[in-house]
Amino acid sequence: MSEQLFWNDEMETRSMEEIQETQWHKLQMQMQYIYDESPDFYRPQFKRIGVHPQDIHSFEDFRTLPIMRNKEMDREAQLKSMERYGHSYGTYLCAPLKDVTHIYCTSGTSGEPSFYTFTESDLKINDECWARTFWRAGIRPGDTVLHGFGLSMWSAGIPVVRALAAMGARPIAAGAEGGIERMLMFARLTKPTALVGTPSLAEYIIEKCPEILGYPASELGIKTLLVAGAPGAGLPEVRQRITEGFGGAKLFDSAQGAWGLGNVSCDSEEYQGMHVVSPEHCIWTDLVDPNSKEPVPLENGAVGEGVITAFDHQAGPPFRYSFGDTLQLFTEPCSCGAPGWRFKILGRVDDLLNVKGIKVYPAAVRNIINSFAPRTTGEMRIVVDAPPPAVKPPLKIKVEYGAGLSESEIENLRTELISRLKNRLRFTAVLEMVAPDSLERSTLKGKRIEKTYESTVSKEG
Ligand SMILES: [Zn+2]
Repeated sequence: MSEQLFWNDEMETRSMEEIQETQWHKLQMQMQYIYDESPDFYRPQFKRIGVHPQDIHSFEDFRTLPIMRNKEMDREAQLKSMERYGHSYGTYLCAPLKDVTHIYCTSGTSGEPSFYTFTESDLKINDECWARTFWRAGIRPGDTVLHGFGLSMWSAGIPVVRALAAMGARPIAAGAEGGIERMLMFARLTKPTALVGTPSLAEYIIEKCPEILGYPASELGIKTLLVAGAPGAGLPEVRQRITEGFGGAKLFDSAQGAWGLGNVSCDSEEYQGMHVVSPEHCIWTDLVDPNSKEPVPLENGAVGEGVITAFDHQAGPPFRYSFGDTLQLFTEPCSCGAPGWRFKILGRVDDLLNVKGIKVYPAAVRNIINSFAPRTTGEMRIVVDAPPPAVKPPLKIKVEYGAGLSESEIENLRTELISRLKNRLRFTAVLEMVAPDSLERSTLKGKRIEKTYESTVSKEG
């Protein structure tokens, strides 16, 4: 008897027409749900643009909605919910707190952790999406799986351990926090046939195994590696290094977002991107132009900023959420024969500035400016006079100084900032020091770039 192809044959072999029908049905319910249950976050955003969920009559209408969530908006929503409700789970929390049964955190953008919330039903979706992912990566019930993601942080921690157990596999929750020696000791003692972790962990095991266990990683008996959390598995040289280092093990790449909404690469010789494995739970492959935020036609090879919407999530559902990744969509059938759409993650949308050959990430600039708080407020704008990515040096940046600084202190701050930016990020900046609270606070998305060549009217409204 031949083995089934997928974890959930019925759901994973459906045609795109069937999938889209289900998506549209669930989308309408989810829009109404977040509108009703999120009076401080989603509903005001609908109101601001004068749209009610019932005005959305098609998928095309839905695609014209602005981005409604991203990391920076999450941060604001967390501060607000702390103020209003005494918890940091964000004003986008749509379910009653008593129904939230799982919380994990990520490191967040500002040093304080960001929390993500799950109800029991959300966790069941997590389990199902991961089970489909594991199955496609060759992990089966009864397999011993070494878990090497960070356990205390991130969606790939406890939720993945739980999902492995739920599908009937045996997770060995070594966790990245335990360090490489412990991880390898666990591997020696439990003889896992699969490893889940970051690509850099896989590479580190190859490097350290001979020293710690006295034999190479190829003798660990690991036949499957499922990696996530960083690019790597899609790069031919990394791929080759890892598969060879583990004695010909198979390597699969996965991206689940923050909500465990599965995607996994396949076994094709050449990397084909990641298959969307749970399209009835979410839309992963909606694309907008990174500058105009207008919808990009969803055709084979299309490139744009990825916008994710989950349908069934109750606790803190992502709806038109941008992770800030640039995706490439593939709608044509894959050489592996699995149906459905795929995508590749091409990089960060932020990776937009190129100052005379030096790549400048606005997020990195902001981090440096933030690190001078309270002498800065952390608020800044990079001013560009022509469409990015190419920017003529020196890079112009407006920086808000902190309250109570004297003129000479502001001047010292300017000099220090210029030198820190030069040392750390290798570009020369001219800084305009502006008063605290003088830069407009954006409610829709964290604005880091001011485009003087565009009209000042915001496109977001
Ligand atoms: Zn494939």
